[in-house]
Amino acid sequence: MNFDLTDRQKEMKKALEGLLADDGAKADLADLRGQRVRPALLGLTGRLAGAGYPGLSAGDPALTVAQETVASLCPSLFLGLEYSARVFGRLVEELGSAAQKQAILPALTAGRAIGALAMAEQNTSLEKNASQTTATPAAGGLLLRGRKGPTINAPLADWLAVVATGPDGPLCCLVPADAPGLNLGPRLATVGLDGLAVAELELDGCLVPGEMTIPLGAAGPATIRAFEDQVLAVAALGVAWRAYHAARLRAKEHKSGGKPIIAYQEIGFKLAEMLTYVQSSQLLAYRAAWLREAGDREAAVTALSAKVYIAESAEKVASEAMQIMGGAGFIRGNAAEESYRDAKFLGLAGTSNEIGRMKIADTLLDWY
Ligand SMILES: Cc1cc2nc3c(=O)[nH]c(=O)nc-3n(C[C@H](O)[C@H](O)[C@H](O)COP(=O)(O)OP(=O)(O)OC[C@H]3O[C@@H](n4cnc5c(N)ncnc54)[C@H](O)[C@@H]3O)c2cc1C
Repeated sequence: MNFDLTDRQKEMKKALEGLLADDGAKADLADLRGQRVRPALLGLTGRLAGAGYPGLSAGDPALTVAQETVASLCPSLFLGLEYSARVFGRLVEELGSAAQKQAILPALTAGRAIGALAMAEQNTSLEKNASQTTATPAAGGLLLRGRKGPTINAPLADWLAVVATGPDGPLCCLVPADAPGLNLGPRLATVGLDGLAVAELELDGCLVPGEMTIPLGAAGPATIRAFEDQVLAVAALGVAWRAYHAARLRAKEHKSGGKPIIAYQEIGFKLAEMLTYVQSSQLLAYRAAWLREAGDREAAVTALSAKVYIAESAEKVASEAMQIMGGAGFIRGNAAEESYRDAKFLGLAGTSNEIGRMKIADTLLDWY
């Protein structure tokens, strides 16, 4: 078994690191935290488009390597970009009509437009209950009514994919951001992922033409959730790498009692354990990608195992990184504290750790 990256994957990794290290990209990354989030996200997407990144398909083995590279540099950028190009974009690519793909995907992958997925609702697990957002027939299409919870990219998006209950079951409506009856709430303040733009939304009689709807079937919401989970698992891997690297550097540079703190066994052991978590997370993420590409029957359960394991590992690694940083880590503005705040999101978003475990157990019950 060969665990090495292919030449193509190595080249892509290097190209992405180079693209994000130039001055323009650094300025855009800084703007992600400020008011210029939309131009910054579009600018960064455009830069990464040069290396083919946003257009990578879900079945491409280079995808996880490329995602890991971007996620470990900036988890907020990664999630903003991926919810646009890969969650919203993948939904259109895999489930949409030819006309929908043509109308939406080229601008999305070139960094000229941003997409968002509005699926989750308060008090509704869409895996078990129908969406309370309804799409009812009206002259000229379907009328959307309902409320959606926090939605990544909603304040920036050109297009939103709104999951609703239609006359024939679950469907997804592709809604332009300026559609009458689509009302966005204010940008929400989040605990972590400072560069992510998130808002709730209300659909108040928003008319969607029939050709901009995608019938989902009963399994549709779970399929879309799996798109999210793939992205969230790699985001967690990126967060873990970032926290680990910050702690390792600090432990080599910072001295106590006349020697770098890495020389103390307690700190060295912590770093050893952190690296073990990150490396095993990486292997699981790659294996999930490999099984998905191979169409293996264990692909879905391995993807869930990866989501749960990597999200929980990221929390552990980020917490130990803070411990190694000491007081300096508790002052805002360093990778360890950012990772500590970022990591919390990844185990509760998409399929939560609890629900993930239950689904894995259900699969085991079915199989053995
Ligand atoms: C910042 C942010 C951005 C988001 N962006 C998006 C987005 O872009 N698009 C989108 O569609 N959604 C988005 N969400 C929603 C997110 O995916 C949901 O918050 C997540 O799916 C969890 O659902 P919930 O908040 O309703 O929690 P709940 O489902 O109410 O869960 C609450 C707790 O109860 C546990 N629980 C729930 N049901 C069970 C059960 N059956 N058995 C055991 N434990 C259970 C959960 O594990 C969790 O610990 C976002 C959320 C946040 C906070």
